[in-house]
Amino acid sequence: MADRSAVQVHMIQAAVLRKQDEPLKIETLQMESPREDEILVRIVASGICHTDIDFCDNWDSAATPVVLGHEGAGVVEQIGERVKGVTLGDHVVLSYQSCGVCRQCRSGCPTACERFWEANFGFERLDGSNALQRSAVRGHFFGQSSFATHALATKRNLVKVPKDLPLEMLAPLGCGLQTGAGTVMNSLQVSKGAGIAIFGTGAVGLAAIMVARIVGANPIVGVDRLPKRLELARELGATHVIDNRHEDVGSRITDITGSGVDYVVETTGDWKMNRLAIALLNPHGTVALLTGAGGTDALPEGRKTRGIIQGDAVPQRFIPKLIGLYKAGQFPFDRLVKFYAFGEINKAIADAKRGDTIKPVLRVSQV
Ligand SMILES: [Zn+2]
Ligand SMILES: [Zn+2]
Repeated sequence: MADRSAVQVHMIQAAVLRKQDEPLKIETLQMESPREDEILVRIVASGICHTDIDFCDNWDSAATPVVLGHEGAGVVEQIGERVKGVTLGDHVVLSYQSCGVCRQCRSGCPTACERFWEANFGFERLDGSNALQRSAVRGHFFGQSSFATHALATKRNLVKVPKDLPLEMLAPLGCGLQTGAGTVMNSLQVSKGAGIAIFGTGAVGLAAIMVARIVGANPIVGVDRLPKRLELARELGATHVIDNRHEDVGSRITDITGSGVDYVVETTGDWKMNRLAIALLNPHGTVALLTGAGGTDALPEGRKTRGIIQGDAVPQRFIPKLIGLYKAGQFPFDRLVKFYAFGEINKAIADAKRGDTIKPVLRVSQV
């Protein structure tokens, strides 16, 4: 009879964050096999998102080392015995994690999960265990830690995707693109003819611009400090762009609209931009804050600010929808992507920080 206490272990390669401001190092780690509700995914590619970079910049050196990465895409390699509806060899994209049992999750709003913070930023499973414990490293970031050759996911953060598109291209759908697109489509439900400004034209902002064009918003104003990104914003759907370094955003938007805008998508996290966004709102307008800040509805004439998580998207529904828009040529997010070898992860992060690359995607293994 098999020894029930013996847990099977996989050897994996993962980029480990040990100290703040130190490069990530690719190390060999021991990862436990999937539990009965988990799925082992061989990672083919992983996007790098600003949240990963923020952790690299702010990691407390006294804390346990961790594996980041939360835009994984790969192939299903092993399936826990209680998982249904997933098959070996399935192509999947990984997204944020949720608990699946709280009131919000049960009512179909996993972005409002009562344990969202622990499930995504706890670096452990919700029961406090950690599949990388033998290597004294913590994983489970966003229920995946995808800067690695393998990741453990659950059905709640796994989305099956068609096999006729390259997995490496689909990786960034799991967080940044879903957030920008979902904010416009789901959270704000921007309609035809509404005026919208997008502060910050990184991956999240550009996804918002592409979807604003799809829903027929007008004008669509992109604001940034990098001319190259503004050029791309215009190609992807911005009707106007404002270079924040040389132009006065407030007076330009007043000139363009004759009044203000109905929506601002604020991705910069800069309090001055935040305040400016509120000042530019039309009555009943909304500022969407995508940087983790909470909202307030105490503004005059029905104006409000709203903190938004993951574009209020249910990944299993929204990611296939975005893939459909991509196939139809309406959501050409491939324009944002630049590929790097897994070993170039530190260069990819540096390029993203400088703004040279909008959406770095690591190639981790072959399909
Ligand atoms: Zn929940
Ligand atoms: Zn992210």
